[in-house]
Amino acid sequence: MKYVGAHVSASGGVELAIGRAKALGANALALFTKNQRQWSAPPLTEPTIRAFKQACAEAGFLPEQILPHDSYLINLGHPEPEALAKSREAFLDELQRCEQLGLCYLNFHPGSHLKQIPELVSLKLVSESINWALEQTQGVTAVIENTAGQGSNLGWSFEQLATIIDGVEDKSRIGVCIDTCHAFAAGYDLRTTADCERTFDEFSRLVGFEYLKGMHINGAKSTFGSRVDRHHSLQQGNLGTEVFHFIMNDPRFDRIPLILETVEPEIWADEIAWLRSLQGQAGAVGK
Ligand SMILES: [Zn+2]
Ligand SMILES: [Zn+2]
Repeated sequence: MKYVGAHVSASGGVELAIGRAKALGANALALFTKNQRQWSAPPLTEPTIRAFKQACAEAGFLPEQILPHDSYLINLGHPEPEALAKSREAFLDELQRCEQLGLCYLNFHPGSHLKQIPELVSLKLVSESINWALEQTQGVTAVIENTAGQGSNLGWSFEQLATIIDGVEDKSRIGVCIDTCHAFAAGYDLRTTADCERTFDEFSRLVGFEYLKGMHINGAKSTFGSRVDRHHSLQQGNLGTEVFHFIMNDPRFDRIPLILETVEPEIWADEIAWLRSLQGQAGAVGK
């Protein structure tokens, strides 16, 4: 069973995101539970929480089909103590919002060393931030996203993801989400079936599929190894389409949200239908 969807708007209320996903023919979705460009947000109200849970029940969405994304402002590896504390508080608030909504995942970008501290020190701060926030919450798994490695962003290599996981005390509540565009931009080739096999073998060896809780399914305007984060539609750009055949036909990607963050929301319904049409089709290139 594949859960396929997109990162839909939650404007007007988180409960409205569910209907927007349903309208795309999706059985998965991502959303922000607050404005992603602001530090603070009003708390979720009881009526909103109730409406969200009811919308999920009516549309048949289980928590495991939903991958909420945290604010872009949060940096859990921040070199400066005050800014780190602010990020940790905001991350805790995001986890608590997921907890209130009955959700089981929170997807986030690990953080940046801002060229002020060594990579490894910043990665350790990320793990400690996660430990601190997990201790104060229940039932929500922190899902680290691999990045394109733009600037001083951490988490672009599988080794870095493994280092963060290594520092997390409760291994049952830590996971990863792999973004196809980010991986490609970070230097993990996915253009042929053989490339996909090599890249995901490496992922399996260094991180492990037991930690894979979601995928971001994106084409790439970025070029291979460019460390630049520019998404494209699935059937355009430099990544090609073989990786999408690979994911849709490999059971290691079953029952986790496969989320589009592609650049043309107008064609999301078509992209979701197209992904589903790949199931059962043999790959075309590289084998
Ligand atoms: Zn992503
Ligand atoms: Zn991106």
